[in-house]
Amino acid sequence: MAKTTEMMDTARAAGATDAAGATGAAASDGSSAAAGRRAAGEASEGGAWDLAEIRAQFPILSREVNGHPLAYLDNAASSQQPLRVLNRVERYLRREHANVHRGVHQLSAEATEAYEGARRSVAAHAGTTDPSEIVFTRGTTEAVNLVASSWGDAFIGAGDEIVLTKMEHHSNLVPWQLLAGRTGCDLRFVDVTPGGTLDLDDFDRLLGKRTRLVACTHVSNSLGTVNPVREVVNRAHAAGALTLIDGAQAAPHMLTDVAKTGCDFYAFSSHKMCGPTGVGALWARRELLEEMPPYQGGGEMISDVRLEGSSWAKVPHKFEAGTPNISGVVGFGEAARFLADLGPEAIAAHEGVLKRAVLDRLDEIEGLHLYGPREERTAVFSFTYGDIHPHDLSTILDQRGVAIRAGHHCNQPLMDHYGISATARASFFFYNSPREVDALCDGLALAAEVFGGIA
Ligand code: PMP
Repeated sequence: MAKTTEMMDTARAAGATDAAGATGAAASDGSSAAAGRRAAGEASEGGAWDLAEIRAQFPILSREVNGHPLAYLDNAASSQQPLRVLNRVERYLRREHANVHRGVHQLSAEATEAYEGARRSVAAHAGTTDPSEIVFTRGTTEAVNLVASSWGDAFIGAGDEIVLTKMEHHSNLVPWQLLAGRTGCDLRFVDVTPGGTLDLDDFDRLLGKRTRLVACTHVSNSLGTVNPVREVVNRAHAAGALTLIDGAQAAPHMLTDVAKTGCDFYAFSSHKMCGPTGVGALWARRELLEEMPPYQGGGEMISDVRLEGSSWAKVPHKFEAGTPNISGVVGFGEAARFLADLGPEAIAAHEGVLKRAVLDRLDEIEGLHLYGPREERTAVFSFTYGDIHPHDLSTILDQRGVAIRAGHHCNQPLMDHYGISATARASFFFYNSPREVDALCDGLALAAEVFGGIA
């Protein structure tokens, strides 16, 4: 039962303090972290990474589901929000709300400062020193659609080529299919190896004189594969193409240094990195944003409006038409600061320990097929288990309080590539505990008993 907890005790050298999930279940708010630790009988060593303290900042992690402590392993779909973010949004709504960039009154000034302060925090997270390179959107999906509509309609024509990969989320595929429908450009798809990595030889074969853009995910939401984006960007640039990186699954887990990556566009979502839903960001090089036409028209994005025509506000406001999701943006900024305070290295160290523990445990389960590579991956695990349908697996696990996702994960072409229609997916974040690895594996053992069919 506590096998993974034991295994991870030996891994503390990596910087992760193991304070088991029962701790999180006992603590319900920031102030009860110490009480939670006592309840779990596990004193914090006061190390750099205090999992009990961290879990205590996420009220939802202390709830029960179907009579069991919640083990939330659906973080690739959406992560949970800490008190710091919830409190910041509440303070904004209670004390600071007004429309932004409009009034000269005190509340409008405070709301504008909260909104633009969030832009600075999100810019720092993305690794740019210029906050005006951050455009707030509804999320990764809208960020990709913005580029496909604005840049794509302006600079792509019939016969031009856009190179994508077979592991793209539908959000980084369908907008390009729509652009192809509008312009007559061609889409090419980089193959995925049986091991779940990009086939870079195939990529080289697809790059050509007509390639205008390479759009590629940083981390696969199904396979967990961390793609070699620097290499992808270098090869694309050598062929004269621009690059868009879908960072939805990378931004929560690793330093998103757009300057180091060298890409031209980078898209990510707040709700996968401890922030609210319905908000995200597009980072783009300033020159590109300057030359791109507006995405949508309306208030906020204009400089001067006459009946005969209009001129545009400066970047990034040119791309933010209408009243934005101000409270969402404020929460997004707080989430970026929260992750920065935890430290990307510490986050990666804890997730690395969890990842190795899960890999070891899943390896031991006969009949379980895990997709994706062993190295260069995040703690996202897509698998099938004998003949048990992923939805049945998910249902059994849910009865034990374990939340995983079952389905095609908005990756239907990737599922086709593997000749399957769905997988079960368990995805971990920095607040997950060894006890939750045990809960997952115990639930899988129960599913095998209930359904049989394990080859
Ligand atoms: N790309 C990837 C790799 C994702 O995992 C997701 C979310 N599942 C998206 C894009 C879309 O993100 P959002 O729904 O926040 O726009």
